[in-house]
Amino acid sequence: MPVVSFREILDPAFEHRYGVAAFNVFNDLSLEAVLAAAAELESPVIIQTSLKTVKSVGADVLYKMFRAMADDLPVPVTLHLDHCPEREWVSTCLRTGWNSVLFDGSHLDVEENTRQTAEVVKEAAGFGAHVEGEIETVRGVEDGVGSDTAGDVHPIEVSGQFIDRTGVYAFAPAVGTAHGLYAKKPELMPDRVTEIVAEHPIPMVLHGGTGLHEDQFQDLIGRGCAKVNISTALKIVFTDTTREYLDANPAKHDPPSLFRPVREAVKETAARHMRMFGSAGKA
Ligand SMILES: [Zn+2]
Repeated sequence: MPVVSFREILDPAFEHRYGVAAFNVFNDLSLEAVLAAAAELESPVIIQTSLKTVKSVGADVLYKMFRAMADDLPVPVTLHLDHCPEREWVSTCLRTGWNSVLFDGSHLDVEENTRQTAEVVKEAAGFGAHVEGEIETVRGVEDGVGSDTAGDVHPIEVSGQFIDRTGVYAFAPAVGTAHGLYAKKPELMPDRVTEIVAEHPIPMVLHGGTGLHEDQFQDLIGRGCAKVNISTALKIVFTDTTREYLDANPAKHDPPSLFRPVREAVKETAARHMRMFGSAGKA
């Protein structure tokens, strides 16, 4: 199965109301572990990269690594650029081969965000790529992007106008979730998903999923959140497993022995989310 477009992964998920996890990978191990989970569970999967990861690894190296691992994968996979407020990096990733991008103009006023997102949609179309858009800041800083204060939530009509005017293929509405770990229980606004999808039937994207319960995920997926971002959960399992291994083996200095349990733990965390979101067996 070759690498496919964002749309080829999300169209069936949106239609049949299952969720495809979009995992933020940050190195070769996390990428390989997520792809191995997808292959084992026969699940479609979205690999996404933060701008921070693109800058630290390099767009070219990251892309070549993705293709080297993804080209022979037996399940559909696509490469997405997560929250990117910097237009030149959106262009770099599109040129390099990313299949889709989230142009994050949520720091701009809606008018300017609309204008710029429409430009990105046009630019992406030239590469056969798709765009996720957002107008409301997801609370919490993720890989250096975002803000810790809750942003404005616009009336539903504003989201609709943004979708119409920009031509985005997917949209990330504010639903009360936040990036990172929750200090207290989030107050979710699932009706916003239903209301937007009723007027504008395109895939919705759930950000800030780490820490939600299975029934909350399933409710939001059932309403149209076809793409579910998972970032913090992978980072936690990666670092905690590393720490546990090092604490248990203070005299060992053999990196491959460390990588094995970390890889297994990352893979199992990815697999757990695929099962929970209903994408297992859908490849
Ligand atoms: Zn996000």
